[in-house]
Amino acid sequence: MQNFSIQMKREGKKIGLVPTMGYLHDGHLSLVKIAKEKSDVAVVSIFVNPTQFGPSEDFNKYPRDEARDLELLKSLNVDAVFMPDSNEIYQFNYQTYVDVEEITKKQEGEFRPTHFKGVTTIVSILFNCVQPDVAVFGQKDAQQAAVINRMVNDLKFPVKIIIAPIIREPDGLAMSSRNVYLSIQERKDALILYRALKYGEKLIEGKEMNPQVIIDNMRIMISGIESARLDYIRIVNAYYFTEPDFIEGGNEYYILIACKIGKTRLIDNILVQV
Ligand code: AMP
Repeated sequence: MQNFSIQMKREGKKIGLVPTMGYLHDGHLSLVKIAKEKSDVAVVSIFVNPTQFGPSEDFNKYPRDEARDLELLKSLNVDAVFMPDSNEIYQFNYQTYVDVEEITKKQEGEFRPTHFKGVTTIVSILFNCVQPDVAVFGQKDAQQAAVINRMVNDLKFPVKIIIAPIIREPDGLAMSSRNVYLSIQERKDALILYRALKYGEKLIEGKEMNPQVIIDNMRIMISGIESARLDYIRIVNAYYFTEPDFIEGGNEYYILIACKIGKTRLIDNILVQV
């Protein structure tokens, strides 16, 4: 992979990377299209990264379909797919990790305490292998994108990060590889995430500036769905992921939600410009 990238760069070509864990859907493909627009050589990585899963999470049963992924990427004329083996990445005696200290501690970090350390480590490794000029991440994982931005700024990685909008199913459910876990009833129930987010957005547009009031109202709405067990709803500054006491005009905020529908943990968010 490194040799290929070095060769491409010698030829003066700009490399764009889309890191994924595979089981691709239209959300991933929208990122690939952006990478193609912003570079000469589009590389997609597919790697289900063990270090970003907690001990009781779904690493082993995470959905995989290499053949289908490769077909989809071929149809988009991707230039290279980087699909390393887990023991090539984390070789015998592996012991180096990248840890972003503050922005990783709250929200997802409270519920998945080792997650972002795994993410920043694998993304650093991928950046070293692929040496991209641009890398595209989805707003679907808004905190992840903010963490990567922090890491790239702090460690001076020579890569431009692009954050791409969330692609949704026609009824509003954010596309996710994990949606495949949902039963027919749970698939219907899962709409509550987006509905609650839109409700929160509407409250802000109606000048409700107290985050706690907004969160409480969203919480009541979600409590009406039997299969839903909420991990958190948070309103954060869109850049620093700090949780304000009051929403102030002239700022951008994410409303973040993480909720289990049955056994499937889903996350979603909406960006609100106040
Ligand atoms: P994953 O395969 O879940 O690790 O996701 C790979 C990349 O695709 C991440 O940058 C995600 O934020 C992004 N992504 C996942 N779902 C969506 C979606 N529905 N819309 C846009 N981007 C997405």
